[in-house]
Amino acid sequence: MSESGFEGGCLCGSIRYRVRGAPLSSGICHCRSCRRAAGAPMLPYVTFPIADFRVIKGRPAEFRSSPPVTRSFCARCGTSLTYRHADYADRIDVMSCTLDDPDRFPPTLHIWTSHKLGWVKIEDGLPVYAATKDTES
Ligand SMILES: [Zn+2]
Ligand SMILES: [Zn+2]
Repeated sequence: MSESGFEGGCLCGSIRYRVRGAPLSSGICHCRSCRRAAGAPMLPYVTFPIADFRVIKGRPAEFRSSPPVTRSFCARCGTSLTYRHADYADRIDVMSCTLDDPDRFPPTLHIWTSHKLGWVKIEDGLPVYAATKDTES
């Protein structure tokens, strides 16, 4: 049996990565930082254990968007690739739309809707969190 895995990469092809196993979660972030990083109204992501993520081609550039948060992207074409938070060092968020099959892991919730743009209408029936799921009480 071959190792189950899924590949993805940036727009120009300089960076390629592989994830394996089952994701821990998937969602759509509406926060201001993700919006800027993506250049889009929201940022869909899939979370994997860090051990299940591997860059297989190229070397992503990194940017610290806040003290605990490191984002990676392609320095050539600018595609946002991953998000890591120091408090959750054992996992990594992969930008869902950089997967070769972006339909593979559909989002299951929306986070940071307190930052959501007024013209974005959430009508997919998924759970909505004003901030992160972890801090919601
Ligand atoms: Zn690129
Ligand atoms: Zn965000």
